[in-house]
Amino acid sequence: MYDAATYRRSQEYTRARSRLGLLSALVDLAVLLGFWLGGGFGWLDDLVRGWGLGPVWTGLVFLVILAVARAILSLPFSIWHTFVIEQRFDFNRTSPRTFILDLFKGLGVSIVVGVPLVIGFLALFEYGGAVAWIYAWAAAVAFSFVMQILAPTLIMPLFNKFTPLEEGELKHAIVEYAQQVGFPLRGVFVIDASRRSTKGNAFFTGIGKSKKIALFDTLTQRHGTGELVAVLAHEVGHYKMRHILIGTVASALQTGLFLGLFALLVRQAGLFEAFGVALPSYYAGVVLVALLLRPLQLVLTVGSAALSRRHERQADSFAAATTGRSDLLADGLKRLSKDNLSNLTPHPFYVFLNYSHPPVLQRVRALDAGVSA
Ligand SMILES: [Zn+2]
Repeated sequence: MYDAATYRRSQEYTRARSRLGLLSALVDLAVLLGFWLGGGFGWLDDLVRGWGLGPVWTGLVFLVILAVARAILSLPFSIWHTFVIEQRFDFNRTSPRTFILDLFKGLGVSIVVGVPLVIGFLALFEYGGAVAWIYAWAAAVAFSFVMQILAPTLIMPLFNKFTPLEEGELKHAIVEYAQQVGFPLRGVFVIDASRRSTKGNAFFTGIGKSKKIALFDTLTQRHGTGELVAVLAHEVGHYKMRHILIGTVASALQTGLFLGLFALLVRQAGLFEAFGVALPSYYAGVVLVALLLRPLQLVLTVGSAALSRRHERQADSFAAATTGRSDLLADGLKRLSKDNLSNLTPHPFYVFLNYSHPPVLQRVRALDAGVSA
């Protein structure tokens, strides 16, 4: 699928994105170190405490100021990514208007969802005693379930229009496949992703008996029915092989681990001393413990990426087995990576650290091997 020119372009694209990623990470680290070593955490804490708002509201203001500062810091990189890099490689379809609207919508969602969450979290720890972290854990798990319902019904429609897939060959083929494998399909939608980017993708949303499949319009424009059904079969594979459930349980365990460690570490005076914060508090503890646990976070991310790659391979085999055609998914993946200029030859160590999916070449080879076996 990649001719010499496309291959070269995919390498240039990888290089451009890697450079921006490195620069953004460097600036992030430099600002963090400067703020930390310059006594920023202590200064901000003193400032906000001076307003006399009480522990929960003081905490909210402290965290909001840091979050806003971080968002402002990352904004130039986000603009550069969309309007320079994606533009240069002809992926960008986002107008400045859409970009700004997205920013405000994202801000609105953060306020509506995030503020009550932060207040609840701080109040739990402030008044919940030694077992507060267990309540917080239960609340976090409940919250993630609520979000799985709210995200597709209330939040995603703020950003994209979901149109039911029109009756026809594709709809017929998808419904037939879903019946064949016993997938409780509630609806097939096409979303107007082409308003932002030419890149293609598909996903499905909802929990329990109300699954919805969403196909990017960019995908339906370029792939034939066979390839699209194969891509959907892969998504159905995730559901049938309980990958969603396993992922939810794994992330709930991870949340519990972090909350337990938070409850333990937030009592250590040394933590606050190390970051130049005079008076211990739960709200400052949230930020400092998160910084302290970054190495642990990295280890866990590597573990969950490995689990995810395993699930991707299983979903590929499921799609090949249930459609009886491994070549269709392979063709779909090839076309998708060519159209997205995916890096064909990522370094294995980079894959180990970051990739949630196996590199496409490995996936195609595994599918080919499945045919000959
Ligand atoms: Zn997948």
